[in-house]
Amino acid sequence: MKIPFFRPPTTGNELNVLKESIGNGHHSGNGPFSKQVHSFIERKFKIGKCLLTTSCTDALEMCALLVNAKPGDEVIVPSYTFSSSALSFASNGFKPVFVDVDINTKNITIENIKKGFTKKTKAIVVVHYAGIVCDMDPIMDFAKKNNIIVIEDAAQAVNSMYKNRYAGSIADLATFSFHATKGYSCGEGGAILINNPNYYERADFIWEKGTNRSQVISGIIDKYSWVDWGSSFLLSDILASLLFDQLNNLNLLQISRKKVFDEYYNFFNTNSYFKYIRHIKLPENVQTNFHAFWIEFKDLEIRHELISKLKSYNIDAYIGYVPLHSSKKGMQIGSTLGEMKNTENAGNRLLRLPLYQMSEDEIKYVIRKLKISIDSILD
Ligand SMILES: *Cc1c(COP(=O)(O)O)cnc(C)c1O
Repeated sequence: MKIPFFRPPTTGNELNVLKESIGNGHHSGNGPFSKQVHSFIERKFKIGKCLLTTSCTDALEMCALLVNAKPGDEVIVPSYTFSSSALSFASNGFKPVFVDVDINTKNITIENIKKGFTKKTKAIVVVHYAGIVCDMDPIMDFAKKNNIIVIEDAAQAVNSMYKNRYAGSIADLATFSFHATKGYSCGEGGAILINNPNYYERADFIWEKGTNRSQVISGIIDKYSWVDWGSSFLLSDILASLLFDQLNNLNLLQISRKKVFDEYYNFFNTNSYFKYIRHIKLPENVQTNFHAFWIEFKDLEIRHELISKLKSYNIDAYIGYVPLHSSKKGMQIGSTLGEMKNTENAGNRLLRLPLYQMSEDEIKYVIRKLKISIDSILD
């Protein structure tokens, strides 16, 4: 058996929607499938306004353009995240300030944010790691009091919830990813979610290459021209058709990941490994979309040994992020505030296990090999 770290999610209906999309003649952005996906996301996740983009990275760039940095403005970002969470803001004039994450969730917390806060803080990017939504209430309170804009990087948290609110619906701005490694995918794709109506009009301009084309479409003006910053952020309607199909199967796809998640969870909870290994747990007020399952070793050497043992059984596990505060570009342009112990530990010790639509046999195989490997290492 061969178990890759990820496989893109599929429904079996892809060729049907592709045929329809190619046949309808609207292949560029904002076509019939895009519009259906926009309204599905707005309705289902209680979002003010959704626009599909070519990636989550691009959606984050749109957020940065909307927030509009002045020279010296800072954005607080957790160090334990993907480059895009900081890059999109840094390439639009912000200075990233890296802070630590929580030991249990690997998410940014209000305590970390307070350590990164300065007179120049203009925005905070929160990342809902592994589908676990950050503890948002204290963060939103703090942001309101200090006049800071919060952006949810919900790349991994489509359909996750915090206190009965969906990820992406809580802050002024948020983003989703529909990359092939995520739970709902069209290969490459993303969305910006805008909950503060003050941003609606400029979001349309920025989305459409800095033009007011949307006002022509809605009949407000009869000729469009260049009015703002922007880029070509629209997702092709052909890819939107694949996304439409994925979102129509939202629950089915999530259940297939939950099955794998539950098997891992039971395995690590019932075996007495907890002296050596901690694993992802679900905070009380969060409902996860089961995006990922991670384990973390108390002893630095074990990760390396387990990776090679699993590799010998054709199972790929993934070591997660190199912390941004110690990355080449992050060190050049960013600053680091506070201790980074939890981030550094996660960088050195965390391991993500394969989690996607796996067959019963594949799940059993991985669990069996995990047990053999861990027992032999701890022996
Ligand atoms: C995957 C991911 C991104 C980037 O998404 P793309 O759609 O590939 O641009 C950004 N942030 C986080 C937290 C991610 O997991």
